[in-house]
Amino acid sequence: MADQTVVERMSELQVDGSKKGAKENGKDGGKKKNKNVAGDSAGKTELSPPPQYIDERLTLYAKLKAEHDALIAERAAKDSKPIKVTLPDGKVVDAESWKTTPYQVACEISQGLADNTVIAKVNDDVWDLDRPLEDDCSLQLLKFDDEDAQAVYWHSSAHILGEAMERVYGGCLCYGPPIENGFYYDMFLDNNEGVSSNDFPCLENLCKKIIKEKQPFERLEIKKETLLEMFKYNKFKCRILNEKVTTPTTTVYRCGPLIDLCRGPHVRHTGKIKTLKIHKVSLKKTKKACMTLCCY
Ligand SMILES: [Zn+2]
Repeated sequence: MADQTVVERMSELQVDGSKKGAKENGKDGGKKKNKNVAGDSAGKTELSPPPQYIDERLTLYAKLKAEHDALIAERAAKDSKPIKVTLPDGKVVDAESWKTTPYQVACEISQGLADNTVIAKVNDDVWDLDRPLEDDCSLQLLKFDDEDAQAVYWHSSAHILGEAMERVYGGCLCYGPPIENGFYYDMFLDNNEGVSSNDFPCLENLCKKIIKEKQPFERLEIKKETLLEMFKYNKFKCRILNEKVTTPTTTVYRCGPLIDLCRGPHVRHTGKIKTLKIHKVSLKKTKKACMTLCCY
């Protein structure tokens, strides 16, 4: 499992010119800090060609994912055994370890339940719906009315915003946690020229496209030293890996071209997010810039 400390605030880490956390920027509402850059930009378009790190990251990821899939297939073939899955009402369902997923269990009960389930809990730990069960376990299928499910929903939405931000700004993503009734994502930019609320339509349209594409959220456990190679372009992610990850491996999640250091879990695919609206951009103007986009 991934190191739990990965979720600690990236913006509390001080790197280069970004001396203060982006949370403070968010709390400020960005009104003052955005003053000098808002208003006169014509808005952004998606970068073409995309940032080079996206391709490099995907190439390494594809190789690791193929190795991982082969290992899982081998494990499913060799080590799979009948297991018992206990539901909250006490009903026990037969399943197979390393093969049966929570989503499949939900489908067996009803397609409606499967469609409306946001996230699973296995032995009280939140668990991706498409992640195979590993042993006898208890299983809860959480809908949006559950607080943990809401956090997963907002957090998954943050990946969509992060993907759009990379494709539009090409900066280094820092941290994108759920907050009450929403989420934000910080990005470190080499410069903040032209960043403004005028960019929101472009970002929101790209988010809509990402949602329409139903990009699956893929989970992959990777060795720390390989992750340092994967995220060598992003000093924030490297700093998390070096200072906060104390286990030999941790997890990344992929949706579309975005691969993010994250312990998960997430909704099954980006199409599960109904809509998102960006409400503010906050900028910390230093030598360079740390941008925070908030959505509710
Ligand atoms: Zn995540």
